[in-house]
Amino acid sequence: MTGLNESIATMSGIGPKKQAVLNGLGIKTIADLLNYFPFRYNDFNVQSLADLPDQSQITLKGRVLDAPSVFRYGYKRSRLAFKLLVGQAAVQVNFFNQPWLKKQIEVNQELVVFGRFDRNQLALAGMKILTNHNNEMEPIYSVNKQIRQTTLQKMIQQAYVDYHDQIEEILPQSLRTKYKLESHQQVVHDMHFPKTLRDAQLARRTAKFEEFFIFQMRMQLVKRRHQKFEGVPIEYDQRALQRFIDHLPFKLTSAQSRVLNEILHNLAMPVQMNRLLQGDVGSGKTVVAAAVIYAVVSAGYQATLMVPTEILAEQHANNLVKLFDGLNISIALLTGDTKPAARRELLPRIKDGSVDLIIGTHALIQPEVKYHNLGLAVIDEQHRFGVNQRAALRKKGDAVNILAMTATPIPRTLQITAFGEMDVSIIDQVPVGRKPVLTAWLNEKQLLDSKPFFLSHLLNKEQMYVVAPLIEESDKSDMVSVQSLFETIKNTFPGFEVGVLNGKMKDAEKNAVMDAFKDQSIQILISTTVIEVGVDVSNASLMVIYDADHFGLAQLHQLRGRVGRGTRQSYCILVANPKTEDGAKRMQIMVDSNNGFEIAQRDLELRGPGDMIGRQQSGVPQFKIGDPVADVKMLTYAQLEAQKIVSDPDWETQTDNLALVKYLNDDKLNQSLD
Ligand code: ADP
Ligand code: MG
Repeated sequence: MTGLNESIATMSGIGPKKQAVLNGLGIKTIADLLNYFPFRYNDFNVQSLADLPDQSQITLKGRVLDAPSVFRYGYKRSRLAFKLLVGQAAVQVNFFNQPWLKKQIEVNQELVVFGRFDRNQLALAGMKILTNHNNEMEPIYSVNKQIRQTTLQKMIQQAYVDYHDQIEEILPQSLRTKYKLESHQQVVHDMHFPKTLRDAQLARRTAKFEEFFIFQMRMQLVKRRHQKFEGVPIEYDQRALQRFIDHLPFKLTSAQSRVLNEILHNLAMPVQMNRLLQGDVGSGKTVVAAAVIYAVVSAGYQATLMVPTEILAEQHANNLVKLFDGLNISIALLTGDTKPAARRELLPRIKDGSVDLIIGTHALIQPEVKYHNLGLAVIDEQHRFGVNQRAALRKKGDAVNILAMTATPIPRTLQITAFGEMDVSIIDQVPVGRKPVLTAWLNEKQLLDSKPFFLSHLLNKEQMYVVAPLIEESDKSDMVSVQSLFETIKNTFPGFEVGVLNGKMKDAEKNAVMDAFKDQSIQILISTTVIEVGVDVSNASLMVIYDADHFGLAQLHQLRGRVGRGTRQSYCILVANPKTEDGAKRMQIMVDSNNGFEIAQRDLELRGPGDMIGRQQSGVPQFKIGDPVADVKMLTYAQLEAQKIVSDPDWETQTDNLALVKYLNDDKLNQSLD
């Protein structure tokens, strides 16, 4: 007999046609077939009427009370009806369009019927009469038009009969004991042929763990491979760095110091850093990045800082020039809008190493941009970039250390899946003296009524952002635009300077407006979401977001993070009239929570991982059984255990891991055959 890893074509009864159909379902080998699990079951176990949920598919056993009658109506349509005595109750059973069943039903006969239960009518829409009934569950597989449910069921049964002896273990015994998991043999059996729903649930629990765990093993192995072969230790000047930190205009928070040490420690090791720095908006990631950049440059390497927008690049450049004043670090700005002449002059200086720090946008990863010895790439607002851009930066040098920063807190699920190969540092504290932003959700009428509130703050020299989803009015949408707000707000608050910002403006114009807002010659700034990321004006304490239900929660949290950066109490007003319950829920979450992690988790639950960080770029793998959001706890344990195993250099030779090693090897073989 052939082995489990042979093609399904070796099974009797599977010719080229069936093989192609099965391939279409992702089933190539016999093992694939055995691991093609059902997504639900028809429960043919007889249930008692007492506590059946309405509209559930159930199996009843009873005695036929009356002779079945067939009512015909319309073309070829009919209803076969009889009463079934189940316990003390007479249940009305109807079979639609199967008049021939009449022959099988006799008065007083004991009968087992599967169907959909209607609690109010005490009726059963019959789906199947179970002759030779022996308490079973029918597995229902995901199929397509080319293959019937019963055909697939039979194939899997056959495969199980012929090959179940060869099913090998996957998980180490120690893990199975620790988490009370089943053997893989039992999983395969109980997933396909459970006696009860409970059996199926237990099998599914182990199957999920297996899936998560194997995924994690791969992730950890990749990570270890990276660490093993790449990376040079960055030997930075510790005393100079300490001086730099001592001269900052503020004292680092203890969270900032902690993550800075984590990062420096990582850099000093002969491995390539691949680290994600998370910190809620306003937690002070920039200065941590600055210290790291300083360390790397002092060790003789180049560094880049990549950001998603021109405005942010400008802002960072301004900040860093100030922070590095007098330290002999040569800084350049490179964006898509750098003038050709300036660019021509700059590229050779990047290449020959006379520029130490290059701040910019995507332009930094263009092929023409060659670096002398890039030692560090900081990616700010990492969630705005994709996996590919991270990889492209990495390729710009022999051993580029990556520090990806994000204020969109990445829920555990994504951390473990899409970012699983990265180490994570978290700034879980904001600088002292900050007051949480107070958030309210209003409709437009209520907003108008709050004019005195805004006026008093504006008169107090505080500044305000107003955000709208559209640049200009559009007949395709009734959403509010920056353009239309401009007149309204000028009229509502005469005597205050109002500026406008949108993504279509020339960069020079944008920067001029931002500068005017910063030096307070503009007091109200109306903008699209271009101000979403990173913009830092600590005197701004008011934020109004129109059509707030149009934005994602993570995005709203980012926008809100533009205020609350000073010591004043700040306010965020969400103006929204959501049409759906979900929309209302989302507004309420924003009002209730100031915690980016919590918001991101709720967002993930409401919208799924794809929408949250961009469908193509999310990088969240498709799991067959496990749900990385709902089952995040199990996913976390799987990661923990995989890390533990891989951290032992001799893990592959330990008896308890032999089955796992074999599984991973076989599986790799299969994957390379694709
Ligand atoms: P984010 O993490 O959102 O990028 P920033 O780096 O922009 O936050 O920092 C937000 C503001 O807090 C900046 O104005 C920065 O100068 C200030 N800041 C950062 N660290 C501290 C600190 N330890 N104490 C006081 N203010 C700080
Ligand atoms: Mg920032």
